[in-house]
Amino acid sequence: MSGGDRRDREGDDAKSICPFCGVGCGVRYDAERGNAVGWRAPVNRRGELCPKGVAAYDVVDHDERLTTPLVREGDELVETSWDDAFGRVESDFREILDENGPDALGFFASSGCTNEENYLLQKLARALGTNNVDNCARLCHSSTVAAMRDRFGTGAMTNTVEDLPEADAFLVAGANPAEQHPVIFSSYVAPAVKQGATLIHVDPRENATTRYADHHLAVRPGYDIPLLNAMCRVVVAEGLIDDEFVAARVEGFEEFREWLDGVDVAASAERAGVEESDLRAAARAYAEPDRAAAFTGMGMSQHRCGTANVHALLNLALLAGNVGRRGAGVNPLRGKNNVQGAGDVGALPDVLPGYRDVTDDEARAEVAAEWGFEPPAEPGLTEVEMTHEFGDGIRGAYVVGENIAATEPNANRVADELDDLDLLVVQDVFPTETVGHADVVFPASSWAEKSGTVTNTDRQVQRMRPAAQPPGDARRDLDLIREVAERLTDGEVGGDRGGPEAVFAEMTRVNSLYAGMGYEGIGEESQRWPFPAGAESGVGVLHRETWGDGAERATLEPVEGVEPADEVGDDELVLTTGRVLSHFNSGAVTRRSGILTRLRSEDALQLHPDDAADRGVEEGDSVVVENDRGRVEAIAAVTPAVRSGTAFLTFHFGEPLVNRLTGDALDPVAKIPEYKHSAVRVRVSRSDATGGDDGGEA
Ligand code: SF4
Repeated sequence: MSGGDRRDREGDDAKSICPFCGVGCGVRYDAERGNAVGWRAPVNRRGELCPKGVAAYDVVDHDERLTTPLVREGDELVETSWDDAFGRVESDFREILDENGPDALGFFASSGCTNEENYLLQKLARALGTNNVDNCARLCHSSTVAAMRDRFGTGAMTNTVEDLPEADAFLVAGANPAEQHPVIFSSYVAPAVKQGATLIHVDPRENATTRYADHHLAVRPGYDIPLLNAMCRVVVAEGLIDDEFVAARVEGFEEFREWLDGVDVAASAERAGVEESDLRAAARAYAEPDRAAAFTGMGMSQHRCGTANVHALLNLALLAGNVGRRGAGVNPLRGKNNVQGAGDVGALPDVLPGYRDVTDDEARAEVAAEWGFEPPAEPGLTEVEMTHEFGDGIRGAYVVGENIAATEPNANRVADELDDLDLLVVQDVFPTETVGHADVVFPASSWAEKSGTVTNTDRQVQRMRPAAQPPGDARRDLDLIREVAERLTDGEVGGDRGGPEAVFAEMTRVNSLYAGMGYEGIGEESQRWPFPAGAESGVGVLHRETWGDGAERATLEPVEGVEPADEVGDDELVLTTGRVLSHFNSGAVTRRSGILTRLRSEDALQLHPDDAADRGVEEGDSVVVENDRGRVEAIAAVTPAVRSGTAFLTFHFGEPLVNRLTGDALDPVAKIPEYKHSAVRVRVSRSDATGGDDGGEA
């Protein structure tokens, strides 16, 4: 354990779901071992876990847990009573509402919170009259969802984990599932590769996934579109299209083929920074086999052209007929354990539960019949847009379980703007970077102290069960959201004081994706959406006969390349970011783990030897990484694993906080930030080189 006294637990061996990634492995506490073990849950059928899962209970007894409500007195956060904390939130939010109207409030839900918590928070926002509610899915796969909803009618994995081993080939674009989604990779993908399936890895960096790859396309960050368009051109030119599928399920083929005639494979490969022969071989490896499953990750989605990137991938899948069958599909690998569910239940500014547009009169009327009030018809602001409005249009924010000071782009700007709010309420388990800016802090429950449901990356809704009580005066998240809702809406929301099961039951009445699901039916298995009436477990592979919106055909659409926002000067490198096996997202939990290590290689700046030599950087040097937005220091790891001209840092640590360097450019459709392409200068730290001081923060 990580410190503190071990508290009484309600049921040490309660079967719950891992709080980290979207794979959704079953975990329970093993008192003898003092850590988590797996149980035979729907995804980790053999009870297997990755190192993060084993460390999941480290949070429970951690001595840095927030255990008392805090309020700001000048520069200090001081302990207070729950009555005082709730009272301040109620009076200050009411004042903002009276003076500025409901759109002056912003609600940050979390894909690390349960479906029930996210549902109640979005309902609160809408009861107050604003659609300014979003969750951190905005930052990882909003662009993927936008493209897939547009083309396929549904923005989710089209395969299930259990049919993946039937693939003859895997195309992994901008993802590193061996480290980011380890159990899916080790239990479903790697065994198929060992049995002969081909793996094509598109990533600017060699990593743990590349070790299994037959083809590695080390694409230049930001240039996936020319690469994927050229692959489409090869597929068409070499007669590798699935004629039957294209004839039956696709429209716009002739126009698309004409447009593809203008795609020069050699020039596109050069633009993408890969060898033409490698690109051609990868296109054949994907399109020639009967079944190929594509995975798409944040290397694709986190660009100002993230939505267009995914559109380009969907063109390739449609041409090759690699959708709608076991072992053939397109699969966004979702980040946190409930990133799929947070969107499903409506914690998004433009859609209601079940992805019905807030602008849809009929949808609002149907929700109003259940809620007793009609949600506003104007879409709200997204997460990053809200931070841009802090202190201006947005005067108060309620942040539940997110660490936005670390995870939003251009972190120095966000830090300043957080302090411009009239009221910042942060609900969390640890004193995160965001808590440091709060006016009121609610000590909340960890994942291991709550009941509820989460929806994993392949659409399976599973149940979490508590193994412990929250420490000290900390309270469960659902109770906290409900108390705030009851006070601000005079009991209209939260006044029924229903528990998680009652909230879930209400949610199923306004969310057709979840209609008919229930706690009893889920039990220790799962229910997967779509969940047709009378079904026991839901629909597996999507789009077998029709697309998600009922359409018979999906359209092929030309996708033009988009230049990244940052121009890269002669002396600059492109900084890209990603995860490592033992840490997760802002690292608020994993960096405090007593089990997980922080290896020097995990927070180092990876540099190609040529780029290091140009800058006089040697392995282990302390280096400054900077641009006009900010500056961090890191230790250099000189490695040919990262392509020349590109540098890599993880985003898991408060230091180096990589988001001091990332920019404000957003994808125009999904409003996802361009985390994966920032121009930076890298130099040896003067303090390292001369023993002198290198100066302060930029
Ligand atoms: Fe948890 Fe994901 Fe690891 Fe499974 S693969 S144990 S869900 S972090």
